[in-house]
Amino acid sequence: MHAPPGDDGVLVEGAACARGHLNHPRQRYCLLCGAAMHGRPRLAVLGPRPPLGALVGGDGATYVLDRDHAVVDEGERAGSPAIVVPGPGARSVRVQVRLEGWDVVVSNVGSAEPVLLTGGGGGPVVVGRGSSSVLEPGRTLVVGALSLLFVSCFEDPGTARSPAPAHSAPVERA
Ligand SMILES: [Zn+2]
Repeated sequence: MHAPPGDDGVLVEGAACARGHLNHPRQRYCLLCGAAMHGRPRLAVLGPRPPLGALVGGDGATYVLDRDHAVVDEGERAGSPAIVVPGPGARSVRVQVRLEGWDVVVSNVGSAEPVLLTGGGGGPVVVGRGSSSVLEPGRTLVVGALSLLFVSCFEDPGTARSPAPAHSAPVERA
């Protein structure tokens, strides 16, 4: 018995393709079999949440979003902010990156540094202390000197820049 990759034990409701594969609710083509999912009634399906993407740092470090993360300020390391998995002794946590359903939510839990969401075709959004904001695919979380680009596993629902998926979808039969 093995868990599928990224299975953090959280069940989410997604859209099913004709074969029952779990997909992001806004997915237009099935990620697993390529079946077209738009233009037909959506079937809801419950399944283990796949990784939602990754945060890619300016230094190339990649943090897979298969769980919650915390961004902490490691003061002892001469002001080089780091993103670490939450754990004991996390009193220095300033920002939380949480997975909520299919969304990635950034919460400012008391950061001395400004917390910004930038890029992706939208204006910068300030996440004030005690508040939260959804991090959309293609946008960058900026905390002090740290910048983390959110690369989604799924099609960006906000910008329909790429009409065709990377793989060739099978032609729908009548
Ligand atoms: Zn499928």
